[in-house]
Amino acid sequence: MSARYDAIVVGGGHNGLVAAAYLARSGARTLVLEARGKTGGAATTEAPWPDAPDFRVTRLSYVMSLMPPTIINDLDLARHGYKIYPMGPYYQAFPEGGSIKLYADDAKRNHEEVARWSVKDADAMPRWDAWLAGLAEVLGPLLLTVPPKLGSRSPRDLSETLRLAWRHRGLDVRTIADVTRLMTMSIADLLDDWFESPQVKGALAVNGVIGTWAGPYEPGTAYVMAHHSIGDVGDGHLGNWGFQEGGMGAVADAIARAARGFGVEIRTGAPVAKVVTSGGRATGVVLESGEEIGAGVVVSSLHPRTAFLDHVGAENLPGDFVTDIEHWKTRSGVVKINLALAELPDFTADPGTDLQEHHTGSVEMAPTMEYIERAFTDAREGRPAQRPFSDGVIPTAFDKTLVPEGYHIMSLFTQWVPADWNLEPHRAELEAYADRMIDCYGELAPNLKSAIVHRDIVGPYDMEHDYGLIGGNIFHGELSLEQLFHMRPAPGFADYRTPIAGLYYASSATHAGGGVCGIPGMQAAKAAIADKKAAKGRRRLRRS
Ligand SMILES: Cc1cc2nc3c(=O)[nH]c(=O)nc-3n(C[C@H](O)[C@H](O)[C@H](O)COP(=O)(O)OP(=O)(O)OC[C@H]3O[C@@H](n4cnc5c(N)ncnc54)[C@H](O)[C@@H]3O)c2cc1C
Repeated sequence: MSARYDAIVVGGGHNGLVAAAYLARSGARTLVLEARGKTGGAATTEAPWPDAPDFRVTRLSYVMSLMPPTIINDLDLARHGYKIYPMGPYYQAFPEGGSIKLYADDAKRNHEEVARWSVKDADAMPRWDAWLAGLAEVLGPLLLTVPPKLGSRSPRDLSETLRLAWRHRGLDVRTIADVTRLMTMSIADLLDDWFESPQVKGALAVNGVIGTWAGPYEPGTAYVMAHHSIGDVGDGHLGNWGFQEGGMGAVADAIARAARGFGVEIRTGAPVAKVVTSGGRATGVVLESGEEIGAGVVVSSLHPRTAFLDHVGAENLPGDFVTDIEHWKTRSGVVKINLALAELPDFTADPGTDLQEHHTGSVEMAPTMEYIERAFTDAREGRPAQRPFSDGVIPTAFDKTLVPEGYHIMSLFTQWVPADWNLEPHRAELEAYADRMIDCYGELAPNLKSAIVHRDIVGPYDMEHDYGLIGGNIFHGELSLEQLFHMRPAPGFADYRTPIAGLYYASSATHAGGGVCGIPGMQAAKAAIADKKAAKGRRRLRRS
């Protein structure tokens, strides 16, 4: 063994970095091992065009919302470069003319905007916002709750379950019914209960299908909407999203700086091949180079198939757990299209290439529920969407650090291509898909096509092979109901521990993941620290 640490973190994505920072803060000598040449994982800022190195894009994830102030403050991230510009409104222009803007926290302007399409919907909007806010009050704290082992009869697990039930003793029949609806309904059915206008419903459906292998009529998509609506960017404004200055890679860089400040050592270009176990306990890792490094604690932040089936090995894990991980659903059909623009899109509905409010938020391609559903149906039937759905943003509306003066980045988070496009690059088809996506926006902003100076297309194959996002799923696993809370990543192991003693799990495939929230990293580190303390206590007791 070449070296020995107190703790090794496998994977230098933002969760791995958060875990390492908390472990080092507790006094553990900690090493992060990252396969790629840089840290950040799916929170990455890159210069994808070799002939234009001064154009940088936030290549995969693109907006912040879900990271709790606890982590931001504990790691003092603002001091290390965490700086968020709150986003402007959701914006959708319509091919038939007109547009709608929806604001995260401006009821008066929302009423004006929605009333242009339906007065009834405009009147319903404040009730909808209040309804969501009420649910966020229940669901928000749950994101920071370690899921109990439901069904376990051990006194400790039973008391955790009871404690959770007690914490929610104030919930009334109606709130529980609302949570049930949110967890089980489709976003389309839910919005039908509230609104009548197709334009309003299309705009509100966006968050229900982001990163999801499901169309808006699939049960469970209402929860996906909630998952994306309950965050705040640390300023207490519910549902607000924001752009990190320098792109999402700068979030990971801020965490890495904080981690190094606590003494963490970070090695890039160091792919791990195996977690070493002995007698059911993790004792270290072996790199692909053959180098072996020992540690009493190993935290993996990789996709569950890599972390468990490849690195630990099915032969070292309980059969039920192996089956659960083999059955883990990890599709998305997402394609990220990053554009460098010589000028801002000039929307027919809101003309002008000068910077205006509608450029500052998300520039959607989700005109109606039927449009979104059609895009999913194409992909489910094995074809890339003819007219793809997109959640677009123009971070350079605020952030001038990404491009040379006068240029912009437009980042399109698009869906869907077939679920098995992780298996082959499908380059030519992705180019054609991107052309169609740009044409759809071109119908609303005719200058877009000619404004493009560079484009970068990242499909499911790239996400799997370059970033370790198996199946191309953006969250290391779908946010479907059977993969949430006490089921994430497997029943009995949602407490950031694993069947292997000393091996902890910090990926987006645990509760509160995905998203760039850092909660899995924090919780896995806390579990390891708590276990170490408990073991110390037991040793002391035995000695006395
Ligand atoms: C296209 C896209 C858009 C998204 N948009 C958003 C968004 O706007 N906002 C948001 O909050 N979330 C978004 N997400 C989701 C979010 O980015 C992820 O949930 C999150 O970044 C995952 O973080 P992680 O640390 O758990 O895993 P990862 O970021 O996947 O990190 C895992 C790390 O492990 C490394 N690794 C893999 N194999 C090995 C190995 N064998 N040895 C060592 N290291 C290894 C990888 O290189 C990677 O760096 C998006 C994701 C994608 C793909």
